[in-house]
Amino acid sequence: MGLLNRLDDPIQGDGIILGTVEDILNWGRSKSDWYLQFGLACCAIEFMALNASHFDMMRFGAIPRTSPRQADFIIVSGTVTLKMADRIKTLYEQMSEPRYVMSMGSCSNSGGPYWEHGYHVLKGVDRIIPVDVYVPGCPPRPEAFFEGLVKLQKMISTQAIFRKREKMSPEDLAALELRQKKVREYQERVKQENADYNDVNRKIYTGYSLDYLKKEESK
Ligand code: SF4
Repeated sequence: MGLLNRLDDPIQGDGIILGTVEDILNWGRSKSDWYLQFGLACCAIEFMALNASHFDMMRFGAIPRTSPRQADFIIVSGTVTLKMADRIKTLYEQMSEPRYVMSMGSCSNSGGPYWEHGYHVLKGVDRIIPVDVYVPGCPPRPEAFFEGLVKLQKMISTQAIFRKREKMSPEDLAALELRQKKVREYQERVKQENADYNDVNRKIYTGYSLDYLKKEESK
């Protein structure tokens, strides 16, 4: 629509549109962006509403894909546990360039309610992949998500596509590597500090106390 609006322009009107090839390609790219949905926890439930008829996300030209190879951007919505973090990173690496990331909700943005005591939660998906748009909220309203989507589309429509995405500066690269190192150290520490991890999990899943389980096992 951006290009068609120029028909009313006093200079570019009369049925003539002046623009660059890049304008036209970017117009197409930004209005037909396909996405890979990575839904986790309660934010993913909200995301389902986005796709239903009332909010109708497809009117923005965003269409879901099941393969990362066909997706222009990935939406990470919800709580990123350390176990899932590796999977998200792998999927991101399988997407072709140019690729984008939307982080939906406080958990994915920063760890959310699990920021302080969630030993199993990554404190922001941007610790493992670069995020282009953050949508705040717990969970975000659909309108907030759409604002983020429009921001992403604007970003795509003004991007230089005949140059590769600018490479990261040595400083940014060093900062990213440091962050990844810290996450690995953190995962190791969690494993060591929770030697009884399986017992804890069983307790959570079965609802029985550890004492009860141990007593049962000793019978
Ligand atoms: S941000 Fe809130 S609503 Fe979204 S997954 Fe986390 S706890 Fe659930």
